Amino acid sequence: MAIREGAWDCPACGRKGNRGPEKFCGGCGRPRGPDVKFYLPDEAPEVTDAEALKRSQAGADWICPYCNADNPAANAFCSGCGAPRDGARTRAVVDHPLNEKPATPGPQPLAVPVRGGGSFWKKGFGLGCLGLLGLVVLLIFLGRPKSTTLTVTGHHWARTIAVEVQKPVAEQAWEGEVPSGARVLGSSREVHHVDRIQTGTRTRTRTVTERVQTGTQRVKTGTRDLGNGYFQDVYQDRPVYQDRSHQETYQEPVYREQPVYRQRIRYEIEKWVRDREARAEGGGLAPAWPDPGLAPKQRESGRQELYEVLFKDADGRPAHYRAPDEQAWRRLEEGRSYKGKVKSDGEVVEVGGDE
Ligand SMILES: [Zn+2]
Ligand SMILES: [Zn+2]
Repeated sequence: MAIREGAWDCPACGRKGNRGPEKFCGGCGRPRGPDVKFYLPDEAPEVTDAEALKRSQAGADWICPYCNADNPAANAFCSGCGAPRDGARTRAVVDHPLNEKPATPGPQPLAVPVRGGGSFWKKGFGLGCLGLLGLVVLLIFLGRPKSTTLTVTGHHWARTIAVEVQKPVAEQAWEGEVPSGARVLGSSREVHHVDRIQTGTRTRTRTVTERVQTGTQRVKTGTRDLGNGYFQDVYQDRPVYQDRSHQETYQEPVYREQPVYRQRIRYEIEKWVRDREARAEGGGLAPAWPDPGLAPKQRESGRQELYEVLFKDADGRPAHYRAPDEQAWRRLEEGRSYKGKVKSDGEVVEVGGDE
């Protein structure tokens, strides 16, 4: 418990470093007064003198309410004016942690100026990006449907009927899962799944590491202003830890893999499968369904129709429009002109009222 001698600066004459326990300024002789703060100079040596150590442990000084002089804790009367101690304030005992001082920021790193004209690559890259962006914008602009006048030059239609045929199909299934109506062709024993069965345990060892407190360490954590010109070092006992490893045994389960067999059935079953498409198409406004030509064990499985109007735009270029239904297709009369929008590939995306 090291004791060190503090110091104080005189507010009256400005003398620095008066010795802590001194009650009067070495420069002007005035009492240090209640507002003076003690501080511990760097590298202040440890106090070893027995008398000084005794004084340091006597307690904080008290301040005379009449003349403001500091008096040692042992005094009952003021050494300055002789007034009794009754009702006098004592100086504060203050702890100062070691890390109390704010950390001074290190030197600021010098900013490296970027030369305006020198970075050729950066500039080139920037221009390249700008050019690419421009190109994309241009492509989007060019790809945008153009408004034009569209004149109907003809109509086109296509109709299809999908045909399915019923025929035997070879399939496989597990025993008990064969659909009704199936004709069994054969079967074989196959692995259905594998069971994991615990057959016992096995003793194994592993290394376990634990953090163990092995002792304590005295660490200086600050200084205490004793209020009488002396300072005392403050210590704390901190735990010291160590990683300790040891071997440990444990039981690990042991498994056996057991395949489980079931009968796998091969069978044949009648199923409707996709066979062909009957298609009819032509120009003009008289669409017709194709003859699906259904034979026994055949059926229709779906119909599709496509109605297209053929146009030429204001510049005479051909264009085509897929009508949403037959009515919309018929409404666009051959020879008449409409306002509309055409993509660059000739697809009409919008067709409005009469021109
Ligand atoms: Zn002074
Ligand atoms: Zn006094």
